[in-house]
Amino acid sequence: MSYVNDVYELVQRRNPAEPEFLQAVKEVLESLAPVFGKRPEFRSAGLLERIVEPERQLMFRVPWMDDGGKVQVNRGFRVQFSSAIGPYKGGLRFHPSVNLGIIKFLGFEQVFKNSLTGQPIGGGKGGSDFDPKGKSDNEVMRFCQSFMSELFRYIDADTDVPAGDIGVGGREIGYLFGQFKKLTNQFNGVLTGKGLAFGGSLARKEATGYGLVYLVEKMMEAKGKSFKGAKVVVSGSGNVAIYAHEKATQLGGKVVAMSDSNGYIFDPSGVDLDLVKRLKEVERRRIKDYCAEKKGAEYHDGCEGIWQVPCSIALPSATQNELDEAGAKTLVKNGCFAVAEGANMPCTPEAAEVFLKNGVMFAPGKAANAGGVATSALEMSQNSQRLSWTFEEVDAKLKQIMINIYTSAATSAEEYGMKDNLIAGANIAGFLKVADAMMAQGLV
Ligand code: NDP
Repeated sequence: MSYVNDVYELVQRRNPAEPEFLQAVKEVLESLAPVFGKRPEFRSAGLLERIVEPERQLMFRVPWMDDGGKVQVNRGFRVQFSSAIGPYKGGLRFHPSVNLGIIKFLGFEQVFKNSLTGQPIGGGKGGSDFDPKGKSDNEVMRFCQSFMSELFRYIDADTDVPAGDIGVGGREIGYLFGQFKKLTNQFNGVLTGKGLAFGGSLARKEATGYGLVYLVEKMMEAKGKSFKGAKVVVSGSGNVAIYAHEKATQLGGKVVAMSDSNGYIFDPSGVDLDLVKRLKEVERRRIKDYCAEKKGAEYHDGCEGIWQVPCSIALPSATQNELDEAGAKTLVKNGCFAVAEGANMPCTPEAAEVFLKNGVMFAPGKAANAGGVATSALEMSQNSQRLSWTFEEVDAKLKQIMINIYTSAATSAEEYGMKDNLIAGANIAGFLKVADAMMAQGLV
């Protein structure tokens, strides 16, 4: 334990202003403590000290002109965390809350998540404090072009392959890809989440939400539970939340609440997904507007209240630290028996502790939302082969990957004496592959 503590203290000293990064590192390091007893060679190789330090961090100016002719300047980031098992891979987030610490927390998580998928992808993350909300398509395009005019120097299909995340969907990826192509004169798989007409993969849009539900289905099967007839609460109403709703409903669940960053809706008759898709995907409106079109639904300001809605299964799929200890206690009191993180780190450490203590099945984001990046890696494979697989082929591969992730996290947890603790199991399983690769590659 002292090795783990020493490294954590070093990380704290070096990164005092990055609370989300420290939170993510602490959670991983705590679960890795038992590994160093069995594998002392990792310590002499300084493996932890290396793995907590990104291989490369890029920060750059992104100047662009708004529709009023005024110059705006945002900050761009790309953190290339680990290339031990493959090219850096991870999304771009455009949101005003983005800073270096947020990108580092996401990049660090990505290293272990990508390893868990069993595919040859390293970890990275990037983004900007640019807020696409309320911007015209032209403004978003000019911003994306300026962002890529710097980023293109550091990425390539075999080096670093970004994708979407909060605020970066098909529209943004299209503009980014167009600019990359113009600057490099290359048409390759440098970005994933592309449109179907230019190298995108079928089922990529659905992958994170579907994958989340596949993993939860497998996790619940082990305890004799299922989605059939279960009330489900899904926070968020973005890419992950929408497709988690879709698959949970297909498997017999009833989604009764969803949210956005302003508030949540409760619809006892089941949230109408077509209406949510139109409001959020097509018209880019607020979740509040749902109630004007659907009788019997209620809207409440503020997102935290969503955890008061009684449910059996909760899928936090909006953003980090959106579900705290109080929310977790309310879920337990209301009989919730399974929680899985669609978003990255949506549960605070205290909330996760409440779930583990109360025997609630809990799947951490690293395992539960890995379906997105796994399908991005499938998109990379298709691009390399210049082939397109059918929806059914990709979906079947995705499902198998999610089952494998569950099995590998559950097996590692048991092997290290922490049965049913998928947080520890996912961290250990993800870490071991990266660690073995780093050992084999020498001190680099
Ligand atoms: P989207 O931008 O499509 O949707 C995000 C949703 O979360 C929106 O409903 C948004 O509301 C809400 N939200 C954003 N910020 C906040 C906030 N501060 N408080 C409350 N709600 C908020 O993003 P995604 O669905 O792609 O991503 C959601 C989460 O899933 C993120 O944590 C992301 O890192 C993670 N993830 C995504 C993957 C993917 O493939 N897309 C893969 C793996 C993880 P509003 O509309 O008001 O902004």
